[in-house]
Amino acid sequence: MNGRFAPSPTGALHLGNLRTALLAWLFARSAGGRFVVRMEDLDAAVARPEHEAGQLADLAALGLDWDGPVVRQSARLDRYAAAVARLDAAGLVYPCSCTRREIQAAASAPNGPQPDGAYPGTCRRLSAAERADRERHGRRPALRLRADGRTRTIMDRRLGPCSAVVDDVVLVRNDGTYAYNLAVVVDDDEQGVAEVVRGDDLLTSSPRQAYLAELLGLRPVAYAHVPLVLAPDGTRLAKRHGAVTLADRLAMGDTVDAVRARLLASVGLPGDLGAALAAFDPAALPRTPWVLAAADVGAG
Ligand code: GLU
Repeated sequence: MNGRFAPSPTGALHLGNLRTALLAWLFARSAGGRFVVRMEDLDAAVARPEHEAGQLADLAALGLDWDGPVVRQSARLDRYAAAVARLDAAGLVYPCSCTRREIQAAASAPNGPQPDGAYPGTCRRLSAAERADRERHGRRPALRLRADGRTRTIMDRRLGPCSAVVDDVVLVRNDGTYAYNLAVVVDDDEQGVAEVVRGDDLLTSSPRQAYLAELLGLRPVAYAHVPLVLAPDGTRLAKRHGAVTLADRLAMGDTVDAVRARLLASVGLPGDLGAALAAFDPAALPRTPWVLAAADVGAG
């Protein structure tokens, strides 16, 4: 099945990102599918061309190849605008001028908290006069999806059915940036992605994205969420945990082959990419995160 890897070029890829990239490539290529790389660079405040270049160099160094040019979300704003316009024409978009603090306060109100951190729909219920009043007070609104608050279920190839509340997700942030959930859905469809392979930290986004795809009349995708790589203290891996990027590992005297072999061994596969491809079996992948040892990050 056609697959993709879609990093955000906001820093160097760490071992967890690199492992997810290897897995996404193995899922696609072992099924004879195309594999595309997409740069999720919509957040202009943090996306940098030098991070993109470094990420692509790391993927190539590991031996991964991809089909066609790398797609950048920043070059596709017209597509996202068209998708929002379609939803808007269907009466499914409303402006929201809630601040983060207001949303948090609503979540801890007596009738809260909302499941999965869902938006409580405050602005959906405003009258036109109340909305005009808020906007007069200088708050530029975000745009949200008028969802129905139902729980929806996607089928994950490895985890089975996974459910989450589909709340009124942000489509356009109040600084005008198109939101991740919207862009992913539009891009996966247009890039012909049939199976989304990504870290299981994004599992609760998938029912939202599947619903958005349905509303936009796009083809449904299959999902395979893979376990994360965690720091020795069990938290999400980050730069501060030590030697967690390919460059860090090379600086410590590791070779690219050794790093690739370590990542593949962590999912029970041989270290050579060709051998890993031949041996790849999605059903045999681990279900739990790989918690690095202090020695793995050069700290032990
Ligand atoms: N750009 C997202 C990230 O780097 C991944 C998006 C996705 O795979 O859907 O976390």
